[in-house]
Amino acid sequence: MQKLILIAALSALALPPAFAEEKGAKHEAGKSAHWSYTGPTGAAKWGDMQSDFATCKLGKKQSPIDIKGAKKGDLPAIGFNYGQTNAEVVNNGHTIQVNLSGGGDVKVASGDYKLLQFHFHTPSEEKVNGKAYPLVAHLVHKSDAGKLAVVAVLFKQGQKNAALEKVFSAMPAKENGKADLAGGMNVTKLLPTKRSYWAFEGSLTTPPCSEEVQWHVLKEAVEMSKEQIAAFKKLYPMNARPVQALNGRVLQESGV
Ligand SMILES: [Zn+2]
Repeated sequence: MQKLILIAALSALALPPAFAEEKGAKHEAGKSAHWSYTGPTGAAKWGDMQSDFATCKLGKKQSPIDIKGAKKGDLPAIGFNYGQTNAEVVNNGHTIQVNLSGGGDVKVASGDYKLLQFHFHTPSEEKVNGKAYPLVAHLVHKSDAGKLAVVAVLFKQGQKNAALEKVFSAMPAKENGKADLAGGMNVTKLLPTKRSYWAFEGSLTTPPCSEEVQWHVLKEAVEMSKEQIAAFKKLYPMNARPVQALNGRVLQESGV
């Protein structure tokens, strides 16, 4: 069961190369509906598209959310332990995703998780006091037990972001396109200087919307240029799921 949930989660959100073919095969067999962000296959319809997407409409801990009224929690600082890794930039038809072969790990309140990949949404899926940022990166991690933890890095318009420059210049314009990132990267360079965060339980923000994902949204936004935002929007003008109901979930914020 754990494995099935994990595979479902990975094929939607992580999509490592090993699963890419399997996903393609499913499409051909007509078993997996093609979801999108607008129109008849948009976010409002995901829950009805196929039975294993039902959590998208029935779940009570769905992501993203509008972050407001957080309570100070006794939360540890996130222990980032990222290092230099090989990276592959993939256009998976829903976003640009960077798959990492050994990017390091994080230690958070719920345990230790290995970094698998990061990808982007525009505008940011999570809102802060009702306001979205131009873009967000979701850093997706998995524990040995198969649980997921995401660290979200918000981007605001400003100076050109050097860490993104290499990724954005490598990103394939065509769906299913892949490119190795020359020289690899260290994901630490995507992080803001201050690392205080909001924490809550949520879900994948793409079908099958599986729950029990630990979310950590860094409060300090990182800058990227207007041109960089435009370059991403040229490929994906809007790939953000609307905010979902909190349903009584507790929103915490770390001390500093
Ligand atoms: Zn995401």
